[in-house]
Amino acid sequence: MANTSNTVPFNTPCVTGMEIDYLRKALQSDQLSGDGPFTKICEAWFERHLGCVRALMGPSCTAALEMSAMLVGIEPGDEVIMPSYTFSSTANAFVLRGAQIVFVDVEPRTMNIDAELIEAAITDKTKAIVVVHYAGVCCDMAGICEIAENHDLFVVEDAAQALGASYQGKPVGGHGHLSAFSFHDTKNLTAGGEGGMLCINRPEFVEQAEILREKGTDRSKFFRGQVDKYSWVDAGYCYLPSELQAAYLACQLDRLQAITDSRIKTWQAYDRALAAFPDSSRPVPVDYENRRHNAHIYYFKCRDLEQRTQLIDHMKRHGANPVFHYVPLHSAPAGLNFGRFHGQDRYTTRESERLVRLPLWYNMPADDRQKVIDAFLSFPWS
Ligand SMILES: *Cc1c(COP(=O)(O)O)cnc(C)c1O
Repeated sequence: MANTSNTVPFNTPCVTGMEIDYLRKALQSDQLSGDGPFTKICEAWFERHLGCVRALMGPSCTAALEMSAMLVGIEPGDEVIMPSYTFSSTANAFVLRGAQIVFVDVEPRTMNIDAELIEAAITDKTKAIVVVHYAGVCCDMAGICEIAENHDLFVVEDAAQALGASYQGKPVGGHGHLSAFSFHDTKNLTAGGEGGMLCINRPEFVEQAEILREKGTDRSKFFRGQVDKYSWVDAGYCYLPSELQAAYLACQLDRLQAITDSRIKTWQAYDRALAAFPDSSRPVPVDYENRRHNAHIYYFKCRDLEQRTQLIDHMKRHGANPVFHYVPLHSAPAGLNFGRFHGQDRYTTRESERLVRLPLWYNMPADDRQKVIDAFLSFPWS
C-alpha cells in the first residue's frame, strides 16, 4: 500500500489486490451469512494444512478462545496457567467462565511462557495450560504437551500471531487440544479487518463446538443430513463469520507464502541493519532451534523503559512510528482481580518495558523500511 503521509505507520492492513475478485464472487452468490462456500474453503484449508480434525471460522480469535474455555469445561474455581505477557483476550476468555488465572514468567529470548516453570504452578484446581506463540515464535510444545499429559490438563494454543509458522516442521496450531487464530487487520493475514479460527485437534470436541457456535442448535448435523430436523439442544452463541470476511480470508490463504515471504524480507532487512546490537536485544532468527516463525513482529529491546520512551519519541520525530506492546496482565486492574502471578516475575515486567516493535507489514516499500532504519540508527545510542 502506498503511504501518503509523512510518517511511516506501524501497520497497514494486508491487501494483496486480488481480494476484490473473491468479494465479487461472494456478492454474486446467494449466501452472505456464515457457513457458505467461502467459510468452508477457509475451514478446509486449516484442516488440510494443520491436520486438525475440524476448523471452525468465527468472528475473532477472542471468540475462538471463548469457545475453547467452554469446550474444555472451565468452571468457577478452576485454575488456568498462562503467560502474563499477552493480550487481554487470552485471559478474558477463561475469566468469563469463572477461572482464576495463574500467570507464569516468560523466557526472555522468545517472550513465550517458560515451560520449565509450568509444573510448579500446577495445583489440584488446574484445568488447562494456555500458551501464546508470541511474534509467531512457537512455544516449546513438546515439553508443554508432556507436562499437560502427565497432569491430565488441556492445552489451548493462542496462535493469534502464528499463522504460517511451524514447529518441528509441522504448522503451528496443531499441537495442543485446541488452537485459536486471529485475522484482525494487525495480523499477517486478515479477513477484511476482523476474523478468527478455532482449530480442533481432538474429535471429542467437534460436536459440542458446532452446537456452541450455532446458537445452541444442531444445525451443522442437519446440513450434513445426520438429523432430519434441527433443534435447540444446548446453550450457545452466534460465532459465525460473514461470507464477505471468509472471501477476503480465502484470497489471502491462497497467498500465504507470498505474504509471509514479503514480511520475512522486511524482517531480515531490519535484523541486518541492527546486527551490531547483541542477540539478546533482537528477536530470535526466522529459523530458531526446531521452529520457524512468520515474521509477525520485529522488535528491539532497549536498555530500560526510559531509553525506550526516548527512542520512540526520537523515531516519531524522524518520521517512523514504532510502538511498545503488552502491559503485563498480572499488573493490570483485571489481572489483579482475576489472577495471581506464580513464582518470581524475573522477566515479564522488565522485558516488556524494554520492548518496542518496528513498523512491519506486507509489501512494505523499501523507502519506508529505510526511513525506519535511519530513524532507529540516528538515536544517540551511547
Ligand atoms: C490479536 C490477538 C488476540 C485477539 O485476536 P482478535 O481476533 O482480535 O480477537 C488474542 N491473542 C493474541 C496473542 C493476539 O495477538
